[in-house]
Amino acid sequence: MATGTLTINLEAVAANWRALDAKTGAACQTAAVVKADGYGLGAARVARALARAGARRFFVAVAEEGAAIRQALGPGPEIGVFSGHMAGDADTIRDLSLTPMLNSVEQLTRHLEGLPGHPFGVQLDSGMNRLGMEPAEWAAVRDIVLQAGPTLLMSHLASADDPGDAMNAAQLEAFVAMTDGADVPRSLAATGGILLGSDYHFDLTRPGIGLYGGLPFEEAQPTVRLSLPVVQVRAVEAGETVGYGGTWAADQPARIATVSGGYADGLIRAMGNRAMLWAGDTPCPIAGRVSMDLITVDVSHLDEVPQTLDILGAHQGVDDLAEAAGTIGYEILTSLGPRYVRRWV
Ligand SMILES: *Cc1c(COP(=O)(O)O)cnc(C)c1O
Repeated sequence: MATGTLTINLEAVAANWRALDAKTGAACQTAAVVKADGYGLGAARVARALARAGARRFFVAVAEEGAAIRQALGPGPEIGVFSGHMAGDADTIRDLSLTPMLNSVEQLTRHLEGLPGHPFGVQLDSGMNRLGMEPAEWAAVRDIVLQAGPTLLMSHLASADDPGDAMNAAQLEAFVAMTDGADVPRSLAATGGILLGSDYHFDLTRPGIGLYGGLPFEEAQPTVRLSLPVVQVRAVEAGETVGYGGTWAADQPARIATVSGGYADGLIRAMGNRAMLWAGDTPCPIAGRVSMDLITVDVSHLDEVPQTLDILGAHQGVDDLAEAAGTIGYEILTSLGPRYVRRWV
């Protein structure tokens, strides 16, 4: 086999959902965010595993993703769409029973005129300035909207991964001011918000990254292992260089393993000369730049070079790899490329 193997542990995803669910009270429902192909792990399989674990509400970014989730889950679970009701979405929203989170008066009008009586939620902007109605806009339409019977009022926190950030409390206050007295279920917290405590939980939480083993959910079980096959091993003399631009030079005789996988597979160039691969319990540093399809690894210290080296696994999780590459676990996961053989266990 010449491509990497991505092993996805669905039981760990389900366990992470249960652990996050246990952090909120019995009256608070825990949804599951499965946008971006389930953060790269395969949305249909992830959604089915989470439905088996007890999740009854799912969220995606766009209606097209919602259609795929509906096909995977069948009728029953509610599927919310963060981007709301976009022009051209009405048939998909109706035929696949999606619940758009309406973000503006324009979307509200489109939805109430195009699909009267069809369920919807409302996204409010409590300070992130990305999606949702502004306080003044909301105040103007609030009575009409509440009469139409939304299923959810939601907002999103900009800095929930940092409990010390004053923005959290400010957004909480803004959300409460916009929604108090509405008598509609409310949702503010994603993974980070769940960890901020019960003030942030309201009626429904929307974890994403924590399900997939990423920070800020430190107790999360890792969900992925990525093994890259060794294509070739060579001896390199002292003074020789490795890879494009010759950015790694051997200061003594070395052995270099070339593995299959590169930036076309989401193993970004910023990992060059910085990240590690693992031979069992032994770390092996990347030597030189990451190429499109290949990575060169210093294996001089190994007695025997195994057939595969792991770049994600027990010793190096998505956040460790992200740290080495100057990014975040979310980006590592959602960049995992289509060439890998995916195995769900
Ligand atoms: C992506 C997203 C989530 C999930 O966030 P995580 O940080 O991955 O838990 C929740 N709500 C909204 C609006 C989102 O865009």
